[in-house]
Amino acid sequence: MIYIHVPFCRSFCTYCDFYSEIAPKECGGILGSWQDSMLKEIESRKDEISAPAEVKTLYIGGGTPSVLPLSVLGSIVSAIKALCPDGFMEFTVEVNPDDVTPSYASGLRDLGVDRVSMGVQSFDDGILRWMNRRHDSTGAVKAFHTLREAGFGNISIDLIFGLPQLSDVLWADTVSKALALAPEHVSAYQLSVEGGSALSEMLEKGEWEEAPEDLCRRQYGFLCAELAKNGYRHYEISNFALPGREAIHNSAYWRRVPYVGLGPGAHSLIRSAGEERRVWNTETLSGWTREGEILTPEDIRAERIMLGLRTSDGMEISELESLAGKDAVLALEREGALVEFGNDGESVPGMIRIPEDRFFVSDEIIRELI
Ligand code: SF4
Repeated sequence: MIYIHVPFCRSFCTYCDFYSEIAPKECGGILGSWQDSMLKEIESRKDEISAPAEVKTLYIGGGTPSVLPLSVLGSIVSAIKALCPDGFMEFTVEVNPDDVTPSYASGLRDLGVDRVSMGVQSFDDGILRWMNRRHDSTGAVKAFHTLREAGFGNISIDLIFGLPQLSDVLWADTVSKALALAPEHVSAYQLSVEGGSALSEMLEKGEWEEAPEDLCRRQYGFLCAELAKNGYRHYEISNFALPGREAIHNSAYWRRVPYVGLGPGAHSLIRSAGEERRVWNTETLSGWTREGEILTPEDIRAERIMLGLRTSDGMEISELESLAGKDAVLALEREGALVEFGNDGESVPGMIRIPEDRFFVSDEIIRELI
């Protein structure tokens, strides 16, 4: 699994705290420095990139990868592909609807991209303006059709719920417009206030208030029900897919498959010689360096519980019991916070999971086990 971080955006969204810089309009300059540093990092980590991997995927995220000129993106993809001649099980690029022109979409296809993740967030223009998104609702729909016309048969869209100004009516409208497009995959996140975002400043100054929990819970429940009615599998707390369209790359993160992260701020999980290391690149536009730590058995235990229970497949009962203790597991089973059944109501022998109707409070359940 290879992740590439593109640290550029054209504008900054109200809620975002990701590492990103304003995208330059021209090649060269800081874009050229980033590109050079990327190519150097790919060269210096070629053994890791080319090593046989259980899951061979490429994911280019950000930031906003679609602000990169195709020539710049192409140079990086070519360098990676030269080290992975057998190709990828899945090759995803994140895009902003505003960047999706017919020529850009077909350029992505030419690079071998087979999955696009588009940050739509809302189909309401007032909400999009508040989020400081560049696109409007019409633009998102148009971009989706442009991607389809370019031949993309695997498109994911991101949505955000849980804003105080997002009424249930507006949310129902956004969900229905998303479903009308029939994307293969939907990721939906409850708005959260991240330190360092414009939103956290607004909150501190008293210019904005978080949405009440019952509104967030209702909007999440509505989304789950509507997507289920339309054939989507709720396979992870925030992710829904048509059968067979679950994200291969992200699913491997939740199974803690090792990955190689390239670019400023990107993280890697490295397993070798009986130990696990988390490695991350510093957040500078060029010439970033690597830092890291050896994960302790306690770190690994907590991560295995936290990631495993995010999914609808859950974990093996014996594994969870050995990580969290039989008594803790049994107590949560008695409360109905953990169940031994699959999504479809059929028993999955040996597996345990958080039932969908408790996904909304999964953090609390997981905390009890950690
Ligand atoms: S949400 Fe995406 S587009 Fe918006 S500022 Fe963050 S990284 Fe950039």
